[in-house]
Amino acid sequence: MITRFAPSPTGPLHLGHAYSAILAHDMAKEVGGRFLLRIEDIDRQRSKPEWEEQIYDDLAWLGLTWETPVMRQSDRQSVYRDKLQWLWTNDYAFACTCTRRDVLAAVAAPQEGVLVLAGPDGPVYPGTCRANGYMAGLNLMPDDAAVRLSMHAVARWLGDYRVKEGSFFYFKEEGAGPAGETGTIEFTSDEAIDQIGDIVLSRKDMGTSYHLSVVLDDAAQGVTHVVRGQDLFEATKIHVILQRLLGLPTPVYHHHRLIRDENGKRLAKRDDARAIAKYREDGASPADIRDMVGL
Ligand code: GLU
Repeated sequence: MITRFAPSPTGPLHLGHAYSAILAHDMAKEVGGRFLLRIEDIDRQRSKPEWEEQIYDDLAWLGLTWETPVMRQSDRQSVYRDKLQWLWTNDYAFACTCTRRDVLAAVAAPQEGVLVLAGPDGPVYPGTCRANGYMAGLNLMPDDAAVRLSMHAVARWLGDYRVKEGSFFYFKEEGAGPAGETGTIEFTSDEAIDQIGDIVLSRKDMGTSYHLSVVLDDAAQGVTHVVRGQDLFEATKIHVILQRLLGLPTPVYHHHRLIRDENGKRLAKRDDARAIAKYREDGASPADIRDMVGL
């Protein structure tokens, strides 16, 4: 078993991170497996070396050990670029110049006042740039636009291979999704079109995206069990689609409950009051932290 913890160095680790890291660590160690760490620092604006240092410090204090060298996403831009180019060349991707505001305006306009269907990445993209065919058919990917995955192209590809829907897009859930989903989770390309839509593969200021990077990194690190919060359960469907397209194995997923504050709100990066470093300062022990998260 190979598990991993993949924090972004954009703020202090809080109790939710501690829970996730300890769970992934202990799960691997209990069966003589390997626990890996990956620094998800593709967001160069928000990632800071001091937060990365703090991550190592906090995890070591918690008593966790991991293999070195640690994988850092900022070292892997050329890997992401190559796979993005492959998706582009094979017509699974299109360039998109819509701003966040354009997307919101387009999805809100026809249904004023109605709740917009939200996918794992926010509102389902209305297809504006796909329909416009902007830059389609060019060999070179544009640098001045985002690149999106075309879910219609994914569905077409399944059709070409005469794949039986549902038997193709699935993963094994050993934890549970937010609605208790567990066991084999199946979905169809039609559901992906309606409920997920054309997600961003590469943002122009990043050259990649969380989804593309995480899929390539989990495969490169040989991760067999992905342990992470339930907030990423729906995103797993995107990851499975990318794994199929890119010919990568699908790990087993173990989505765990989220650690919440006393008002039931899940902890966020800005919840400095629950930062592990703050508890350390206040004299808590690693055993106290385990207690606080119910381990
Ligand atoms: N880097 C992500 C985060 O900080 C976690 C990604 C994952 O576990 O897949 O929430």
